Amino acid sequence: MKIEKYPRRFLFVALLVGVLPLRGADVAPAPCAFCEIIAGTRPQEAVVYRDDKVLAFLSIGPRNPGHVLVVPLVHAEGFLDLPPDTLHAMTDAAQKIATALKRTDLKMEGFVIQLNTGKAAGQTVFHAHLHIIPRYVGEPEEQKPEPRVPPDQLALVAAKIKAALAELNAGK
Ligand code: AMP
Ligand code: ZN
Repeated sequence: MKIEKYPRRFLFVALLVGVLPLRGADVAPAPCAFCEIIAGTRPQEAVVYRDDKVLAFLSIGPRNPGHVLVVPLVHAEGFLDLPPDTLHAMTDAAQKIATALKRTDLKMEGFVIQLNTGKAAGQTVFHAHLHIIPRYVGEPEEQKPEPRVPPDQLALVAAKIKAALAELNAGK
């Protein structure tokens, strides 16, 4: 007599449970424009700097000529996801590149270092990047300065941030 160890229905369900996660793993992750530049699958003419941790290239949508993006080689979404040594490599590279920019005939008078994190902050490419944006005297401001806030109101917000930092330091 043939003994069926497991009922057929059980085997069918087990097969589905085993196969579905594999199909999920096969789905390619959403492409990241900056990972593609790092991988060399996009044109490289605009690359100005590379080392073992970062790549820097000109933005395709520059705020001014010489607008450079400094990008970690390893994908990280925003500021809080960057390992400290990677962040240091990014700022070291930004300092070198800004020094070089000042030597070019772009005659950069000042510059902004910016790292947008999150949609609310204007991040559009979700691979962390430092902007180096050349600025010139007399250029229109990107946004009007906020009205001045009295010190006692600032103190309330400062107290909240200091309390959160104290919690972090205490390992909470
Ligand atoms: P953010 O708004 O901080 O995410 O900035 C994204 C920056 O990346 C902008 O300066 C864009 O113009 C720039 N950008 C987007 N796609 C590319 C690309 N394929 N190559 C170079 N720069 C890019
Ligand atoms: Zn990426």
